[in-house]
Amino acid sequence: MNKRPDEFELIATYFAPLAADPSALGLTDDAAVLPGTGTDEIVMTADALVAGVHFLPDDPPGQVAQKLLRVNLSDLAAKGATPKAYLLTVALPADWTADWIGAFADGLARDQETYGISLVGGDTVSTPGPMTLSLTAVGSVAAGCAVRRAGAKAGDRIWVTGTIGDAALGLRVLKGQLAGLSQDARDFLADRFRLPQPRVTLGPRLPGHATAAIDVSDGLIADLNHVCETSALGALVRADGVPLSGAARQALGGGEVAIGDLLTGGDDYELLFTAPADRHDDIAELADAVSVPLTEIGEMTEARGVHVALADGSELEIADGGYRHF
Ligand code: ADP
Ligand code: MG
Repeated sequence: MNKRPDEFELIATYFAPLAADPSALGLTDDAAVLPGTGTDEIVMTADALVAGVHFLPDDPPGQVAQKLLRVNLSDLAAKGATPKAYLLTVALPADWTADWIGAFADGLARDQETYGISLVGGDTVSTPGPMTLSLTAVGSVAAGCAVRRAGAKAGDRIWVTGTIGDAALGLRVLKGQLAGLSQDARDFLADRFRLPQPRVTLGPRLPGHATAAIDVSDGLIADLNHVCETSALGALVRADGVPLSGAARQALGGGEVAIGDLLTGGDDYELLFTAPADRHDDIAELADAVSVPLTEIGEMTEARGVHVALADGSELEIADGGYRHF
């Protein structure tokens, strides 16, 4: 039997050849960008959540619904798009209940109100496997303005929204770890994992400022690496410049967590973007205008690979599936 490829090899080998249309961006971006009818282009993205993999059967159904919608809104925001509508596909196991689906629909209703988006279609099927939920979100952006992963230039500064690494710590809290943290810190981190806050106010303001953007779903370093690869560049990040929450600092201080855990932890759904160095003041103004904290954490380099400089001048080594401090 042939060796099975990993996720990205699988997409590149089997699906990318089906996606020759330029709107697919080679299946190497957060979303597709299709021609629209007027002055706008259409932006489309899909994400799925599977019970036992992405959520637990006893997680609050409303929060599962909100996470499903929000991870897609995060991809739209990363391309500079404004959400318009979404399609929902649910595959239900034999033991599904009306109460669960009712609470799930209530969660969607709350977020439809918050984000000004509405359901326009989908599919409902049964499955012998775990519950599987798939959502396709559609947005729009002024023609030619979508922000790609591939547009970064050497010397561009790297910016991130909010704080990094909280969601991965939140997952550990939900697994009963990090017991040494204060209850407030534990609650904050768990909430960051369960309920992402997609940066929908900032996203549509990125065109004109950002040369490239991505949302941080796989972890800061992995997602920055996606920008590097599509832009054919590398990046240098200053670890002590990466914005951390009070709770994450508490975890670092307690020694239960290392900086590498925060820089490689997924599920934050913050935005990472690059912009020319001389845009610094404009971007600081933009942060004020949309009330989203923005922090410059490093710069794009001709030298390939993502390099993380620690405060003592040494470099954090990022190995496959982990990291080593030397
Ligand atoms: P993101 O983390 O931004 O949601 P992913 O890492 O899930 O992006 O996917 C990377 C790229 O691969 C995206 O362009 C996505 O549309 C594409 N992709 C993933 N799975 C499939 C699939 N089964 N068919 C077509 N494209 C896919
Ligand atoms: Mg993404």
